Amino acid sequence: MPVSGSAIVKMLPGKRPCKDCGFPTCFAFAMKLASGGTTVDKCPYLSEETKAQLVDLLAPAIRLVTIGSGENAVQIGNEEVMYRHEKTFVHPPAIALLVSDTESQSDVEAKVRKTQELQFPWVGVNLKADLLALRFESADKDRFISLVKKVQETTKLGMVLISEDMDALFSARDICADRHPLLYPITKENLDAALPRIKERPTPVALRGESVPQLVSLTSKLKDAGIDEVVVDPGSGNPLKAVEDQTFIRRSGLKQGFRPLGYPTMALPCFMTEDRLKETLTASLFVNKWASVIVLSDFDQYSLLPLLVHRLNIYTDPRFPMAVEEKFYEVGNPDEYSPVLVTSNWALTYFLVSSAVEAAKVPAYVCVKDAEGLGVLTAWAAGKFGGDSVGAFIRKSGIEDRVKTRKLVIPGKAARIKGELEDALNLEWEIVVGPKETTGIAAFLPEFAKQLRE
Ligand code: SF4
Repeated sequence: MPVSGSAIVKMLPGKRPCKDCGFPTCFAFAMKLASGGTTVDKCPYLSEETKAQLVDLLAPAIRLVTIGSGENAVQIGNEEVMYRHEKTFVHPPAIALLVSDTESQSDVEAKVRKTQELQFPWVGVNLKADLLALRFESADKDRFISLVKKVQETTKLGMVLISEDMDALFSARDICADRHPLLYPITKENLDAALPRIKERPTPVALRGESVPQLVSLTSKLKDAGIDEVVVDPGSGNPLKAVEDQTFIRRSGLKQGFRPLGYPTMALPCFMTEDRLKETLTASLFVNKWASVIVLSDFDQYSLLPLLVHRLNIYTDPRFPMAVEEKFYEVGNPDEYSPVLVTSNWALTYFLVSSAVEAAKVPAYVCVKDAEGLGVLTAWAAGKFGGDSVGAFIRKSGIEDRVKTRKLVIPGKAARIKGELEDALNLEWEIVVGPKETTGIAAFLPEFAKQLRE
């Protein structure tokens, strides 16, 4: 539960508005602390005890955990709401592909390749799996270690290391500790033995409990040992129980402010069923119901893409329309005599226009003007797709260096900007009013492209 500024101010020195923290009063400092706009250490007059209390109070209800390193680092947790419509979800669940050390070398290579090849550009973002989960299953430690080494050499993806054998688990961790792997499972049985090894080289650890109450004692023990980069798996055996457990954990952490359960969760559909379709459906259930790491036994484009699109839909911010970057996009392989179209940057608009151009089999440039994620008509009505601003965008977009023609197709719904746009472009461009709907592009574009080349 977020702590209020008025609760914080009671813990501050208060008597001396000395402004050393950079704020005019203790109250102003407290309000800023509560909103996350400053840090506790800015007030030099707090006792160590008060500082520690404040840091604990201000910590996010669900701990932020990072798995992996560099540009492939995946952040999970730090969520603020139970339901997306309350505000937004923040960090999408990481999708991990399970690789066992019992698999043949060619199967391992094929799986690693899959994580590299199955990437889907989708309305301005790149959808892909995030992690590889390497499992010690062979009972041959050397085999597991060589799997970890091989994967480390061939991909930069973050890793989850899965081993019931603690010696194998920490030996593997030592090989790739700089990649900040997630270690799984730490359990009631192995926790005491694992603690010193975890502290040696801290990386995130995933606790597996036999029940939610058992998780509480495990996270508390880790917290007392100063280990807080934790993920929890309630060990639910089937999807129904899993939803119950995930809901309980989320509610306890977020709504009750119960710190021992304020951690991101892990779900393993790979061990819940052998039916691949059911596994994908279970994974989509966990996307809805709050898992932060989801491990799959395998996937292909037909199971991964729907899952990633589903995740994208749940984890986009409902307060803002999805938008694509302002720039010109090449559809097909356009040349200097290819058509140039302009539209707004609502992701759906861009997706429909570029798909229609692609379907028309006419290579073209689609210039996408930033209209704060609004569709063309709404953007025009809101003054974000006027002739002046579209003209300024065309000038700065660089499209004039790419084409020799000077004909610009505007959406039929924005026909009224034609005159203003011509003026903005000093009559150097002929403005052509295109179809009102993207469905008209198929009939319009081939003939228009032909005229351009004549
Ligand atoms: S530095 Fe501390 S005591 Fe001084 S005004 Fe800021 S919060 Fe108050």
